[in-house]
Amino acid sequence: MMIVMTPHATTEQIESIVQHVKDEGFQPHRSDGKEQTVIGVVGIVDRDVDPRQFEVLDGVAKVVRLSSPFKLASRQFKEEDTIVDVGKGVLIGGTEVVLMAGPCTIESKEQVDAIAPIVAQAGARIMRGGAFKPRTSPYSFQGMGEEGLKHLRIAADRHNLLIVSEVMDRSQIDMMLNYVDILQVGARNMQNFDLLKDLGKVRRPVLLKRGIAATLQELLLAAEYIMAGGNTQIILCERGIRTYETSTRNTLDISAIPVVKTMSHLPIIVDPSHSTGLRHLVAPVARAAIAAGADGLIIEVHNQPEKALCDGAQSLLPAQIEQLGHQIAGIAQSIGRRFQPAA
Ligand code: PEP
Ligand code: MN
Repeated sequence: MMIVMTPHATTEQIESIVQHVKDEGFQPHRSDGKEQTVIGVVGIVDRDVDPRQFEVLDGVAKVVRLSSPFKLASRQFKEEDTIVDVGKGVLIGGTEVVLMAGPCTIESKEQVDAIAPIVAQAGARIMRGGAFKPRTSPYSFQGMGEEGLKHLRIAADRHNLLIVSEVMDRSQIDMMLNYVDILQVGARNMQNFDLLKDLGKVRRPVLLKRGIAATLQELLLAAEYIMAGGNTQIILCERGIRTYETSTRNTLDISAIPVVKTMSHLPIIVDPSHSTGLRHLVAPVARAAIAAGADGLIIEVHNQPEKALCDGAQSLLPAQIEQLGHQIAGIAQSIGRRFQPAA
């Protein structure tokens, strides 16, 4: 349920409603929009509450029952787009299109040192690299852990890049906060509810990837878990879903971008690497994603993909990411957005 205040509601009236909601045993979540304040009432099943008990209070314009099961993540609750401030002037969800790029997994100090300048040159503001890898086989390389994050941080700092890296388990969160600017939740963990709840307690942006068989409603309910804990800095990621098609690793759901933008105020980026699985398909799909309104891209890049420990076949070569950066700039401009590849 949402309590929509009148445009002229006073601070006292808003605070008094917030208190009233708490007194009734619910959690209020306040959203101060340009026009008016909306108070989301969390912790209830809408049908069990009579909205009139809130409607009669001073300063209340109307009370709206929500049709969607998620509240805080919904466009109804917050009309304006959420812009996630990652630091160093990087904003995700605004006019600027943001590129995250780097290897699938951190393999060595030398490897991340070689890749950081390549992705910075292409216009990436954020470097990716997994330290904990969710591998389908237990015998595959599982990641370098904390040592890898140290290498990634040093390499990224040298080129003024921020870092995104996957957190696989709640026990890794505290350690990772020392190194990463965005905590990534992988597709396989989208419904790891204990992990999501713990990420709700931190104040660091989260990149939440869509599960391989998740509906968009389920993706937004996963975001709601994090938001209910108070962490509203979430970037969604469409990374392809599993279908009967076998010519690509997954099937990119391009319509997820405009659909999510209708359902939610959260920014959404696209991962063309895991959705296609093949290098020559990455650029066309990346270009389509930007044209469809994605707020950014996360792309795998490797300086020696033939030697990569993970996902070499889908990793772009240095010249390819640089070329893609220029193409993205052109597409972004044509739809009133911006992307700045390095000079
Ligand atoms: C990744 O980005 O490294 C990854 C494993 O992606 P996903 O969780 O989408 O499979
Ligand atoms: Mn990968």
